[in-house]
Amino acid sequence: MEDRQFRNAMGKFATGVNVIAAEVEGEVYGMTANAFMSVSLDPKLIVISIGDQAKMLDRIRQSGRFSVNVLSCEQQEESMRFAGQKEFEDQFEFDRLGEAPVIKDALCQLSCEVYNEHTEGDHVLFIGKVNDLVLKEGEPLIFNCGKYRRLEALEAVAK
Ligand code: FAD
Repeated sequence: MEDRQFRNAMGKFATGVNVIAAEVEGEVYGMTANAFMSVSLDPKLIVISIGDQAKMLDRIRQSGRFSVNVLSCEQQEESMRFAGQKEFEDQFEFDRLGEAPVIKDALCQLSCEVYNEHTEGDHVLFIGKVNDLVLKEGEPLIFNCGKYRRLEALEAVAK
C-alpha cells in the first residue's frame, strides 16, 4: 500500500483542528494537530499523537505539560501558522491558563500534564491529564480530505 493512499484514507475522517502549545525555559511553542481523542473520564485523560520528526516532541518531554486548543472557524490562520503552512511577520501572543500557554479565543483550552507516553511506529502518543479547562461558544474549524472547511457548509447541505 502506498503512503499516499493511506493518508488519503485517513483524510476521509473529518476532524476539528487543535494547536498544541508547550513552554520550555520561558519560550512558548505551538504546533497544529488533529490527532486528538478523549480517553477517560476518571481520571480525565486525553491523547495526542506527535510525529517523531516534530520539534514539539522534545518540547513536550522537556516541559512535562502541554495545552490543547480547539480552534474556531475564525482561526484558520492560527492553524496555518503553527503547521508552517504560511509565514507571518508578527509575533504571536499566547494567553495563559494557570501555568499553561493557550491560544486566545479557542473554543476549548485544555491545560494538561503528561500522564504517560507510548511510542507507536513513527509517532508518540502522549496521554494528558486535564487539570483545567476553559470553553467558549462558536463554530469549529474542520479539516477533511486535506482542506479546511466550516461546519455551516455541511449544515446547509443537510437542510
Ligand atoms: P515547528 O516547525 O518549529 O513549528 C511549527 C510552526 O509553528 C513553524 O512555522 C513555527 O514558526 C511556528 N511556531 C511555533 N511556535 C511559534 C511561536 N511561539 N510563535 C509563532 N510561530 C510559532 N503533526 C503531528 O505530529 N500530529 C498531528 O496530529 C498533526 N495534525 C495536523 C493537522 C493539520 C490540520 C495540519 C495542517 C498539520 C498537522 N500536523 C500534525 C503537522 C504539523 O503541524 C507540522 O508538521 C508542524 O510544522 C510540526 O511542527 P514542529 O513541532 O516540528 O515545530
